[in-house]
Amino acid sequence: MSQDCAGSGHELPQEPPPNEAATCPECGREVRVDVAEADDGQRVTVERHQAV
Ligand SMILES: [Zn+2]
Repeated sequence: MSQDCAGSGHELPQEPPPNEAATCPECGREVRVDVAEADDGQRVTVERHQAV
């Protein structure tokens, strides 16, 4: 049974370069980031990924 990592959807404090991997704060693996437009700019979150 697969389960999402707790870091999925975690908002990142900084803005990494687009289309670059970031490090998940929960599992420490390299993950893709999801960038969405927000009222005050861009909101960068960790893309959903499975737990180890
Ligand atoms: Zn993770």
